[in-house]
Amino acid sequence: MPETPAQWYARVSAALEADGYRESDLQQWSSWPWTGTLTPKPLEPPAEVEPDRHGAGGVDCRSCATGLDPQAGGAVWWDDLFYVGAGLDSSLPFAAFLMPRRHADLGDLTAAEAARQGELLTAIEDAARASLSIPRIQVARWGDGGEHLHWWLYARPTGMLQLRGTFLSHWDDLLPGRATEEVRADARLWAAELVQRVGGQLPEG
Ligand SMILES: [Zn+2]
Repeated sequence: MPETPAQWYARVSAALEADGYRESDLQQWSSWPWTGTLTPKPLEPPAEVEPDRHGAGGVDCRSCATGLDPQAGGAVWWDDLFYVGAGLDSSLPFAAFLMPRRHADLGDLTAAEAARQGELLTAIEDAARASLSIPRIQVARWGDGGEHLHWWLYARPTGMLQLRGTFLSHWDDLLPGRATEEVRADARLWAAELVQRVGGQLPEG
């Protein structure tokens, strides 16, 4: 029988009380962005009710607005099912998000949408590698902020080994960004490569 959230919390809390947190060697990782001693926060109990995420039920959903009009919404590529936006505030050579045009979370996609999503993830990596000096892209779906499905796609500069792995998005929060026009210019390059691979549309102008 799987644990309920309350059972999970009771068991983990009791183990923490008895033995404390597990030993972590994060500070020894070359990719860990910070120095200094880490102190874990006390573990909080589960909420009775999960809070609504942004755009719950499609109401006032900013991502739906871009899905309806990708050109006005600032998308850098789109087709009938999906659009791609660029992470304009990012410090990285590549940061983008892939989203369905309609309001849907991951488990809501039709088989056709899921198939196109898989094709796009592969093509975006290929297009980005063809136009930028990056080794590969990282793919993350957190999903806790907004209900409308959004995949975060990141890449570090080739050879920047310190940025490898789990902490790339944290490094991105710390490192200074670039001029928006430079980010957009790079996005035009990889979006054009994407069109060559999977079709779709680019913004005018
Ligand atoms: Zn939406």
